[in-house]
Amino acid sequence: SEFRSVFVNFVVGINGTGEEVTKLVTTLNDGKVTSPDAVEVVVSPPFVFLPLVKSSLRSDFHVAAQNCWVKKGGAYTGEISAEMLVNLDIPWVILGHSERRALLGESNEFVGDKVAYAVSKGLKVIACVGETLEQRESGATTEVVSAQTKAIADRISDWTNVVVAYEPVWAIGTGKVATPAQAQEVHSELRKWLQKNVSAEVAESTRIIYGGSVNGANSKELAAQPDVDGFLVGGASLKTRPCDDLVNSVDLPEFVDIINAAT
Ligand code: PEP
Repeated sequence: SEFRSVFVNFVVGINGTGEEVTKLVTTLNDGKVTSPDAVEVVVSPPFVFLPLVKSSLRSDFHVAAQNCWVKKGGAYTGEISAEMLVNLDIPWVILGHSERRALLGESNEFVGDKVAYAVSKGLKVIACVGETLEQRESGATTEVVSAQTKAIADRISDWTNVVVAYEPVWAIGTGKVATPAQAQEVHSELRKWLQKNVSAEVAESTRIIYGGSVNGANSKELAAQPDVDGFLVGGASLKTRPCDDLVNSVDLPEFVDIINAAT
């Protein structure tokens, strides 16, 4: 779209040692981005590696935390507050990832509260929504992602700092990517939901990115869909592909292909 800049987020899950993270940052720093003004790139390492990544990552890429606490920090042992992220100058946070919804029992309302609190502290939020395979097969996809989005919309009025990530649960880490048509259909439904329930301006300007088994090979066709404004990438952020250049024959990181596909 001419109106929405593209957004690519690389999530490093809870993989990696300090050495591996440093290697990954070096690879990211060496990557050639063909349209740097058209794409916003954000890297989301686990909390403990945020300072390392922030201090060593190229300045045109940004960092995101993978979660934060739902309200003001305090006696919530083991949690990280939005205030702490602000204090460390971490601009972005991912909230409502399906692994947290499914494994940690985060409800739509809880995720909505988290988004509202993080936004109120000035953080930019990547808010994840998505249906399970069972929900898709029973025809409930639109209903599920609408309810997840509604819980956020009920609690915020300013969407400027929110990116919605559509991540079908059945596609995350499975190698089963949504087809471009499947992704486009849900992104378009989400945009229509925003138009009807929030405003035409928010629907037009909010970036809706796709996540779930995105790689260098499938990213181009997905990026060509009118309502796909970028990607949230897990596994492929850690991978390389053989270079076409047989003379220099070095491996290239897939993330470069994904960023360049997205623009
Ligand atoms: C994710 O972890 O959110 C994700 C999209 O992973 P993958 O790209 O490996 O499916």
